Amino acid sequence: MPRRLTLDIVTGMDGSNGRIEVIAGGMFSGKSEELVRRLRRATIARQRVQVFKPSTDIRHEPDRLVTRDLRELAAISVSSARELKAALQFGVQVVGVDEAQFFDDGLADLATDLADAGVRVIVAGLDQDFSRQPFGPMPKLLALAELVDKMHAVCVRCGGPAHYSQRIAGGSDQVQVGDTDAYEARCRACYELFRARA
Ligand SMILES: [Zn+2]
Repeated sequence: MPRRLTLDIVTGMDGSNGRIEVIAGGMFSGKSEELVRRLRRATIARQRVQVFKPSTDIRHEPDRLVTRDLRELAAISVSSARELKAALQFGVQVVGVDEAQFFDDGLADLATDLADAGVRVIVAGLDQDFSRQPFGPMPKLLALAELVDKMHAVCVRCGGPAHYSQRIAGGSDQVQVGDTDAYEARCRACYELFRARA
């Protein structure tokens, strides 16, 4: 029995593959690599895949997600969940989203609509900001997802599994421009409260 379809773009699908997967963790934990791995497998399985990134993510090249591992899939930069929805192609089967923490809360609602309509949604993002607060729509997505993976980097201090993105330079804004050098991976024992220099 087909589920009720909520989005025009997937009319005709039976809804059997719909689900939300979240790949969460700190910086340098391999979230994007895991996202690319899953999307590559979907591509090999000849599924229709689309990949999105927030245009507010200025830390990387717009197509960094795909140039290294997945040249055949261009990541589309969008500024909001609404813009992402508008860019979906008819018949898409798998939707990947990188750097999901920079999206608005509408991403969680859209992920639910897509999964209900039979689309496999794979979301990668930072679960916490540098001050260990839940980041953007990630907590909601983590609650809604059928499948959650928490990735870990390697703590630069002790070599243990690192759960946090330790800010080591810059200001106290949640999002910092041009910033991978301003962070390092740290575990709970090695994490320190960052104070911006006045
Ligand atoms: Zn450590």
